[in-house]
Amino acid sequence: MATNGGIVIVGGGLAAARTAEQLRRAEYTGPITIVSDEQHLPYDRPPLSKEVLRNPEHDVVLKPQEFYDERNITLRLGAAAQSVDTAAKVLTLADGSALEYDELVIATGLAPKRIPSFPDLEGIRVLRSIGESAALREHAATARRAVIIGAGFIGCEVAASLRQLGVDVVIVEPQPTPLASVLGEQIGALVTRLHEAEGVDVRCGVGVASVAGTGKVEKVVLSDGTELDADVVVVGIGSYPVTGWLEGSGIAVDNGVVCDDAGRTSAEHVWAIGDVASWRSEVGHQVRVEHWSNVAEQARVLVPAILGQEPGSAAISVPYFWSDQYDVKIQCLGEPAADDVVHIVEDDGRKFLAYYERDGVVTAVVGGGMPGRVMKARGKIAAGAPIADVLPASS
Ligand SMILES: Cc1cc2nc3c(=O)[nH]c(=O)nc-3n(C[C@H](O)[C@H](O)[C@H](O)COP(=O)(O)OP(=O)(O)OC[C@H]3O[C@@H](n4cnc5c(N)ncnc54)[C@H](O)[C@@H]3O)c2cc1C
Repeated sequence: MATNGGIVIVGGGLAAARTAEQLRRAEYTGPITIVSDEQHLPYDRPPLSKEVLRNPEHDVVLKPQEFYDERNITLRLGAAAQSVDTAAKVLTLADGSALEYDELVIATGLAPKRIPSFPDLEGIRVLRSIGESAALREHAATARRAVIIGAGFIGCEVAASLRQLGVDVVIVEPQPTPLASVLGEQIGALVTRLHEAEGVDVRCGVGVASVAGTGKVEKVVLSDGTELDADVVVVGIGSYPVTGWLEGSGIAVDNGVVCDDAGRTSAEHVWAIGDVASWRSEVGHQVRVEHWSNVAEQARVLVPAILGQEPGSAAISVPYFWSDQYDVKIQCLGEPAADDVVHIVEDDGRKFLAYYERDGVVTAVVGGGMPGRVMKARGKIAAGAPIADVLPASS
């Protein structure tokens, strides 16, 4: 049943903007509506923990308003989707209005996890949105000491940015090293070294028990009883897919919206893309990727599938992500696992290069400050080459 509602995209981030853009490129001429609960034009998130924290002037808008006007893409900003009736093909917004759709694309991304036992004190921040980045920057302007809870990518990047602003920084991470679950402990140890060289106090293998303060945060108490002074606390313990609004819709959700290998959900005419979407991989696993470059790759597959056109290239060829910490760009190409054998082939005390091996095959390359070397390994990783093909002769 065609409703003339055209294609409605829920979400105001990279995935929503890319999907709309790609639909017009593919010469879809029907209505496109982006429904976002944010007031801002769709913007880029990676700079929020990097440039934006250090420079309020840094522009993150993906495309100006004219871009959407010229392509006849309607933006409904400040409008949260609340529920969807997939039989009637109607999306209901929080203000009670209803939008009919022919095809619905879910691109609602992630929300940051918080620590529910923490009291509501000023100075305790999470980071996902531009508003949260601005608020953190404001706190940082007067802060002497920051405690970062969690040494994942966002925690490490925030630690680097705050340090660059002159704030004393302590990182608290229950795992043995930063990034241990993603890149393993060997590379994690190099990341610890990088932060320690910049004067960050990296405390691993210990958790946070509580925070205290009067009105604003003043102290963080660790699980070993240590008390740390803090005027700002950043909780960087991960995020969860924003799927609560789909409850009751019948759309299958399991750590994200469950999709096939082209973004089709369990409901007809409903699709999902980006951080919220768990796509079926070539080998039949469900995989939810929380990285920027994945969005464009998925859009190239999703859009032709929606329009019934020839499929684009496979969505996940060689996964890639990066993280900027100080002057070092950490890049990862491939699919490292924390229990892969790691071969560190370059290490000058700050920059490094490592190959990951599983069953004799190179699975990933991770570099710190080695962009050319990382990218050169793409062909070998895509081909599943023997590890010996990438290791220097003497290794
Ligand atoms: C601080 C930070 C730094 C990052 N740095 C890197 C990096 O260095 N490298 C890298 O590879 N990746 C990085 N990423 C990840 C990258 O930004 C994401 O992969 C990307 O933003 C995913 O885009 P998305 O559109 O799927 O989700 P999001 O960008 O989260 O967008 C989702 C949108 O949906 C909106 N929304 C949610 N619920 C509703 C609703 N009910 N109704 C309407 N709208 C709704 C949200 O407000 C938001 O606008 C970073 C992410 C963050 C937060």
